[in-house]
Amino acid sequence: MSMRLSRSIVGEAEAAAVHRVICEDGYLGIGSEVQRFEAEVAAYLGVPADWVVSANTGTAALHLAVESALGHGSGAEVLVPSLTFVASFQAIGAAGAVPVACDARLDTATIDLDDAERRLTSRTRAIMPVHYASNPVNLDAVYAFAQKHGLRVIEDAAHAFGCLYKGRKIGSFGDIACFSFDGIKNITCGEGGCLVTSDQAVADAARDGRLLSVEKDTEKRFSGQRSWEFDVERQGWRYHMSNIMAAIGRVQLARLDGEFAPKRRELAALYRERLSAVPGVALLEAEPEAWIIPHIFPVRILNGLKRRVIDALDAAGIPTGQHYKPNHLLTLYGGGKPSLPVTERLHEELLTLPLHPGLSREDVEAVCAGIVEAVNR
Ligand SMILES: *Cc1c(COP(=O)(O)O)cnc(C)c1O
Repeated sequence: MSMRLSRSIVGEAEAAAVHRVICEDGYLGIGSEVQRFEAEVAAYLGVPADWVVSANTGTAALHLAVESALGHGSGAEVLVPSLTFVASFQAIGAAGAVPVACDARLDTATIDLDDAERRLTSRTRAIMPVHYASNPVNLDAVYAFAQKHGLRVIEDAAHAFGCLYKGRKIGSFGDIACFSFDGIKNITCGEGGCLVTSDQAVADAARDGRLLSVEKDTEKRFSGQRSWEFDVERQGWRYHMSNIMAAIGRVQLARLDGEFAPKRRELAALYRERLSAVPGVALLEAEPEAWIIPHIFPVRILNGLKRRVIDALDAAGIPTGQHYKPNHLLTLYGGGKPSLPVTERLHEELLTLPLHPGLSREDVEAVCAGIVEAVNR
């Protein structure tokens, strides 16, 4: 099989769990399996079960988080790095808030707080740091910045499920953290996501919001009932997770620490070892290897050689990726105005190398050999 940039690692155990939900339970919607998944995610993070609100995608979790924290249609401005998946921007917009694109740091590709500070206005209400390549680099500084300016913090932790920051699990501290369980993330539910927060007003609003804001519908469904008589006070969505997704997620969660995490770390460490001294290649600064579970492995290819490296790897059957097309270059978000020089430079330099638990050390050696050959040619 040809090398893949990323892929789901699922098999018989996940299939058996789905089989159980379909053939034994027969209840496919949001029910006891989702309740168990949320409880197990909470236990994994070391937080109370009612801090965790699952959703059908990570984007939906981000949307619910912004809306629950700031209100629906607030028009509030949210500081967010331009260098992120368009999901971060779309989620902010979906909540009726306004994404304000910020520049990145060259060493980590995470949000540049000096640039963010210049973009503060009287309408700024939140900051959405993105844990790029699973690195929650300057999170203390982000929280200090937020406190200083009276902002909510909504962490886009889509890359960072299971990661630690200064010894503590992402999501177990701070304001609101959102994870993604889409097919290629550190764990998958097929699709899926969740938000984690100690703020019960936000958690309750998100729990209702994912079920059309039918009040306390989650409790009913977890106990196998339906709400026939109810009131609705806010805009809501159909964003809940299904029992089928949760069944997959429960198996994946059990495989994370013993199987997926060590493999991802081992391969990322090998990339670092092989590429750290290669002229023309710059690695992003990262947290200690043992603290993170790397979801992607982007490197900077310097001196304008990125195209050459892509073509050389492509010729060797090795796929590469781009994380990400900066959002401020998209028509909806300004079409390149204002310019964000570091983000634009990173966009020219960053190249994502294959990383998933199905790769071998030999695969990584082949990728590195291809890069070295291309930059030395
Ligand atoms: C994957 C991802 C999301 C969205 O998650 P989905 O589950 O795919 O909707 C948001 N932000 C970032 C940075 C991501 O990588």
